[in-house]
Amino acid sequence: MRSARGILIVLLVVTALASGCASDSSAPLPTRSPEYTAPPLPAKAIPVLTDSPVPPSPKTPQCGDPTASLRPTEAGGAARGPVIDAIRARGRLLVGLDTGSNLFSYRDPVSGAVVGFDADIAREVARDLLGSPDLIEFRSLGSAERETALQNHTVDLVAKTMTINCERREKVAFSTVYLQAHQRVLAVKNSGINGLADLAGRRVCIVPGTTSLDHVRREQPTATILTVPTWADCLVVLQQRQVDAVSTDDAILAGLASQDPYTELVGNSISVEPYGIGIPKGSDDLVRFVNGTLDRIRNDGTWSRIYHEYLTVLGPVPAPPPPTYQD
Ligand code: GLU
Repeated sequence: MRSARGILIVLLVVTALASGCASDSSAPLPTRSPEYTAPPLPAKAIPVLTDSPVPPSPKTPQCGDPTASLRPTEAGGAARGPVIDAIRARGRLLVGLDTGSNLFSYRDPVSGAVVGFDADIAREVARDLLGSPDLIEFRSLGSAERETALQNHTVDLVAKTMTINCERREKVAFSTVYLQAHQRVLAVKNSGINGLADLAGRRVCIVPGTTSLDHVRREQPTATILTVPTWADCLVVLQQRQVDAVSTDDAILAGLASQDPYTELVGNSISVEPYGIGIPKGSDDLVRFVNGTLDRIRNDGTWSRIYHEYLTVLGPVPAPPPPTYQD
């Protein structure tokens, strides 16, 4: 039971609060500006103008089978040649890749080391050439910088989800195929986008300097394309709903999808994308050496182990792509 004194105290407190509220309500309300602002685009995001010329369809065949490479001389440390001798004298293999490409080349969150399918294939080359997988220096490259980095010899190799095609073979050399990818589409689940046909009139994120951009521009010219520096940037602009879809190789898209459960790969294959290690032109001894390493890892189980480590989101471990040779 409450005492009369207790009730009085409660009344006094309520009155005081009420008068406080009354004096506040007479003050003008602060003007509130909307707190929502559109998220910024990543640095160097550029819309591709729809009236810029669409790249011409490649004339086939331009170079026969672009994936046919030079036969390996001998696998392992005994091979000699001007380029591989120079790398041995330097003591480090310089490898260009993307350091933010989930599954292929990215920083291990604990060790900080660059790991992934591409990074580990490059380590196998360093193991054979220099006796240690760690005698390697990774240099960060955007997709559009791969060919020039090889032409300018700022790297010995490019291991960056690089499709072998005739156009590129005019500028650089390639190893045999070490992974077969397919271009597809990544969209938000239940978005109504089920493949390339649904990209008509939609906004699509693509990285410049890629086969992916050429294919969408040719095969879906009404799509509005936003280009950004990396595929990781494409995931961000999809999450921010600044685009409706991303289109590139299934292997890269699987790396993005595994970082966002609200996204999914949709549609059939738009094109076949055979990946090769990019090598400067005129470095035949290095091409043969890398092909020797690829041959070794196809046969000794290393390729399957690396695939199992990073790429099982694509399905069970397949057989490694068989090499084709031009000589
Ligand atoms: N495979 C495509 C290409 O080589 C896209 C890969 C990438 O941008 O890393 O153009």
